[in-house]
Amino acid sequence: MRFDILTIFPNIFDSYLKESIIKRAQKSKLIKIHIHDIRKFSKDKHKKVDDIPFGGGAGMVMTPQPLHDAIKHVQKTNKGPVIFLTPQGETLTQPKTEKLASKNRDLILLCGRYEGIDQRIRDTLVDREISIGSYVLTGGELPAMVMIDAISRLIPGVIGKEESHQQDSFSKSLKRKKEYPHYTRPATFKEMNVPDVLLSGHHKKIEDWRKSKLK
Ligand code: SAM
Repeated sequence: MRFDILTIFPNIFDSYLKESIIKRAQKSKLIKIHIHDIRKFSKDKHKKVDDIPFGGGAGMVMTPQPLHDAIKHVQKTNKGPVIFLTPQGETLTQPKTEKLASKNRDLILLCGRYEGIDQRIRDTLVDREISIGSYVLTGGELPAMVMIDAISRLIPGVIGKEESHQQDSFSKSLKRKKEYPHYTRPATFKEMNVPDVLLSGHHKKIEDWRKSKLK
């Protein structure tokens, strides 16, 4: 699965996407991530990508020309939907990430900044708008990484058995509920004991206990 990210801060992605599971997934070619600097597409002589809002008001708005050209450029190689990350979009949920992962369709992720992007781009070039929660961040870069992480870990082979997502919170097998508590060694830590049932080796009783702890 291929993700193309459109941003004016391409270096923001350097740390997270180059570590751990997402790094491994790229190395094994299970996912591909391409980052595009919207500023490079600006025809303004100072490479400007924002301007004051018509009608007045605080803040700047991302101008349509660089966004239009950047999207059109990426669409030459990525035929998937253009997703604009915005707090006004539909909220990302586990069933939605499952659907996106199972479709295995490439995605173009558009990151806003400032007050957002010119509405004409949303009206004509954006296919879907997604929010990662009802709060406002400074930009769409973290939401884009959240989406890539949440989708990628569901792609077969991306996470190993020891990190399996089958029994995670909100998964189908947990009936979309929140997962049971986890304990590891030592069995006693600062006078706090692990529940006896987990040490019993009795699989049925452990399963029943875990089911009873789902929320
Ligand atoms: N003026 C916008 C509003 O009130 O809806 C908020 C703009 S925000 C400061 C700048 C950018 O951050 C947005 O265009 C969007 O790309 C991104 N962003 C902020 N919060 C987000 C969220 N909860 N989910 C997805 N993207 C978000």
